[in-house]
Amino acid sequence: IEQSAYQNDKLAMLGKIAAAIAHEIRNPLTSIRGFMQLLRPHLVQLGKEEYARIVIDEIDRANDIIYEFLNSSKPSTPVKKEVHVDSLLKEVKLLFESEAILKGCDIELSPIDPALTICVDVKQAKQALLNIVKNSLDAIGGSTKAQRGMIGISAVKQSSKVMIMVQDNGTGMDYHTQSKLFDPFFTTKLEGTGLGLAVCYRIIKNHGGHIQVDSDIGTGTQFKITLPLC
Ligand code: ADP
Repeated sequence: IEQSAYQNDKLAMLGKIAAAIAHEIRNPLTSIRGFMQLLRPHLVQLGKEEYARIVIDEIDRANDIIYEFLNSSKPSTPVKKEVHVDSLLKEVKLLFESEAILKGCDIELSPIDPALTICVDVKQAKQALLNIVKNSLDAIGGSTKAQRGMIGISAVKQSSKVMIMVQDNGTGMDYHTQSKLFDPFFTTKLEGTGLGLAVCYRIIKNHGGHIQVDSDIGTGTQFKITLPLC
């Protein structure tokens, strides 16, 4: 399943819009924050210091959201360095540990040769993998007695590449979903953005890699990513 140039353009356009909006919104936010700091002593006198704290915290949160959104939609040239596949995948697993426990789902990382390395931009590679594992967790939903949620992560060397696999026993996808899943804005979730896999696809392509999906309704999904060896 390939992502067309048109879809890439959509993502690039989104990056530009996000950057423009972020820039325009940041300026008023900065001045609101500044004036709230000036008002703070007056609010203290009124015994309402809490209000100042809330306003400032919320402005900071809005800024963080803008920053994160900008980072996820902005294409940036990967700054590649040698990364151990083993430690990269351990970190990805660790980041989802609490969510997996809450869902009663297991994340299993197969033993990986500690010497195996890839040449990637760590931040981007992590983001791509996080987007995939997050989708697996979403597809698993809650574990039932009949079937415990399982996400398997593994990696193997394949000539001059490393193949990373993420497998889940979640809902699986029908053909229509499979043919659309890398499209920017395609989502089947109520609160989805449909950007996770589009961004993931771009990151992997920018690294000279490939992403492939196998999925069956009721059985689960497997993503296979190949990235160049170091
Ligand atoms: P979002 O998570 O915001 O919906 P994504 O681009 O990450 O956006 O995913 C697009 C769609 O692909 C999801 O809405 C879902 O329908 C489908 N999908 C992705 N990964 C899986 C998976 N592991 N199992 C089932 N469906 C998946």
